[in-house]
Amino acid sequence: MTAPIVIIGTGLAGYNLARELRKLDGDIPLLLITRDDGRSYSKPMLSTGFAMNKDAESLGMASAGAMAAQLKAEIRTHTEVTRLEPAAQRIWLGNEPVVYRDLVIAWGAQTLRVPLAGDAADAVHPINDLLDYGHFRAAAQGRKRVLIMGAGLIGCEFANDLRLGGYEVDVVAPAEQLMPGLLPPQPAAAVRQGLEALGARFHLGTVVERLDRHGDALSAQLADGRRLDCDLVVSAVGLRPRTELAAQAGLAVARGIAVDRQLRTSAPHVYALGDCAEVDGLNLLYVMPLMSGVRALARTLLGTPTEVSYGPMPVTVKTPACPLVVSPPAADAAGRWVVEGQGADIKALYLGADGKLLGYALTGAAVQDKLALNRQLPPVLA
Ligand code: FAD
Repeated sequence: MTAPIVIIGTGLAGYNLARELRKLDGDIPLLLITRDDGRSYSKPMLSTGFAMNKDAESLGMASAGAMAAQLKAEIRTHTEVTRLEPAAQRIWLGNEPVVYRDLVIAWGAQTLRVPLAGDAADAVHPINDLLDYGHFRAAAQGRKRVLIMGAGLIGCEFANDLRLGGYEVDVVAPAEQLMPGLLPPQPAAAVRQGLEALGARFHLGTVVERLDRHGDALSAQLADGRRLDCDLVVSAVGLRPRTELAAQAGLAVARGIAVDRQLRTSAPHVYALGDCAEVDGLNLLYVMPLMSGVRALARTLLGTPTEVSYGPMPVTVKTPACPLVVSPPAADAAGRWVVEGQGADIKALYLGADGKLLGYALTGAAVQDKLALNRQLPPVLA
């Protein structure tokens, strides 16, 4: 029997790649392996679930069984890949070896954890997949007050969503502004005002140091001496691409698993896609780059080597309290922010020395300029 194309992961990267492969080839053997339950879902929906009153069950779009039938693929759920052995073209699931024709690593990124003192440090909820979301919703049942650690994109989206879901929300984060890695101060202030008008409270420039149980509730001790009472804690302090097993197997790893524009790792017949992959130096934890990768990689795996390219990739942040679209400039792009507007409506343009547009952040009514600006942006990966 021909060895299958093995895909590790059934997130948006793994399932979309399998779909694309099936579209182009009805017969090629496919094996998908996931350590979760293999339900198909759209991860971006996790931060709109409370506003839309959707539990984990209703966010799940298809079971692993339904996906296997639809994709004509074998899907192994609750199964963890524990070792890669590229020299023998196989992987290990505990003691069981699995041989592949080609291997695609699409095992995503893991949530960062901050070490906390106190007897309730284990009560912190990261929300990075449907199972996490299900656990959090169950814990949130009948409770009122949520403390969110982190004011990045995900922390702000959850703040907005949980307020719309009727929870009291306190956000604690070390920087002095929201989304510091993504936004200049003015649009960040606009988003903060929008979320505060919705009732979210921000405690910036400090961190949670300690979390203790007080009867049924929790008490968070902040580094600046303040104490906040809450019922639940969400951790949104960041994500890190999963790279350990790849590094142990000798694959080149940088921030993510290093791949070229054909998504080839440093080992033959091994590819990486999605949140775990660093494509030509770029590790972008968004859906658009992943979908470009899917289209290119399916063709490559079926015999037509195809390089991935990214056009402009603006991100719509799901903070309806203050609409925000951002197209961050490349990390090495020399330029300066030019900001106009006031209150909720901010247009921040990142311009190079020659006046060319290299990135933007738009809030409120300024969001309507995004299509015109997108046409002026350089591609993210030409
Ligand atoms: P994942 O979905 O994390 O999938 C990883 C898979 O690998 C899982 O099936 C897991 O079980 C499996 N796995 C991991 N390790 C192993 C192992 N050792 N063995 C077997 N299986 C393993 N992006 C946007 O562009 N727009 C948005 O609005 C947006 N909103 C978001 C909101 C939230 C709350 C979050 C958390 C992210 C959001 N993102 C958004 C980011 C986007 O959702 C991700 O970039 C994308 O879903 C990543 O998909 P993935 O398949 O690479 O990883």
